[in-house]
Amino acid sequence: MRYLKLYNSYDFTIDRAEGVYIYDSEGNKYFDTFAGIGVLALGHSHPEVVEAVSEKLHRYAHTSNYFLDPETERVAELISDEGDKVFFVNSGTEATELALKVIKKKIGSGKILFFSNSFHGRSLGALSVNGFPGIRDQFKPLLPGMVEAEFNSVEDLRQKASENPDIAAVMFEPLQGSGGVQPADGEFVEELKRITAANNWIMAVDEVQAGLYRTAKRYSYQHFGIEADIITAAKTLGGGLPLGGVIMKGEMTKVLEPGDHGSTFAPNPLALRGAKVVLEKLQTMEDSIAERGEYFLNKLKEIESDKIKEVRGIGLMLGIELKEEIPSLRDKAQAEGVLLNVVKSKVIRFLPALNITKSEIDLLVGKLKKII
Ligand code: PLP
Repeated sequence: MRYLKLYNSYDFTIDRAEGVYIYDSEGNKYFDTFAGIGVLALGHSHPEVVEAVSEKLHRYAHTSNYFLDPETERVAELISDEGDKVFFVNSGTEATELALKVIKKKIGSGKILFFSNSFHGRSLGALSVNGFPGIRDQFKPLLPGMVEAEFNSVEDLRQKASENPDIAAVMFEPLQGSGGVQPADGEFVEELKRITAANNWIMAVDEVQAGLYRTAKRYSYQHFGIEADIITAAKTLGGGLPLGGVIMKGEMTKVLEPGDHGSTFAPNPLALRGAKVVLEKLQTMEDSIAERGEYFLNKLKEIESDKIKEVRGIGLMLGIELKEEIPSLRDKAQAEGVLLNVVKSKVIRFLPALNITKSEIDLLVGKLKKII
């Protein structure tokens, strides 16, 4: 095989996908519990997304950054507030890169704080603030001036802040996704807010996975009462097509000048079209996502199994932490017609379509009882 396989991909070929289901070329039907890693907010092949994107594709597919697509401003409005500025990129990693560039241009040689177990992407810049040593350290030396503190440790946060008075910004993922659906603790967030305000740090929040209504609010940081200066978004944003964005607030809106950043592809016109459809729908669904998220969480808590350590999460970003790894869990689930995403070897991460119904949740939980 010439394709370099760096992923442990499923052993079947997808024929088509619709809603929460993926159908393989042999006619098998699978329940998709992670929707393209939290990308397909309205599920696979949502008819309105398909129609809107196809209509635009028939007119044009790509224009480059020499042209301003008429949908750019509308999508920027949907993900930001009055007075903010938005720049579009192609992925979450690129959003992290741009956020780091904004920060570095603003703070010069100041340091940037980040947290263990946080994921911000795999480019060299993003790896510099990536809290997964296993995927980071073999690429060292990375960017200088990055300080790692332990996630959810008030003591380590205080210590790193006092040892590094030149920290000027923080990169924060309030609800860690790849880190195992792990929310920041109340006490930790309060201390981070206090230190950030006291030192006038720039607060950059990574909302690539938890943002854009995954947790029922537009951004997950809103659950934590954080004031953000920079927000990164991607995944849900393009309605299934690659699109990322960096939202800059206040002083941050004045940092970048023409020539400071760019991309041939971004924002792709089709991704913008998908974004508009998806975001206009999602902004009316906050209450319903919160309600179905609560319903799903409670159903997961009802699963009686001595293998489960904890069930947690916010909105429709939920996880089951197992006491220990269950060998071949993914294969067992597949045999039951369920596609599971396991992170950190023992956290089953659920990032379902945000329009998943209660009866689909019931069906899934029934299958999970059998699998776990
Ligand atoms: N930030 C977070 C929180 C993520 O979960 C991810 C990807 O999973 C990224 C950044 C990187 O995004 P992408 O894979 O689109 O480059």
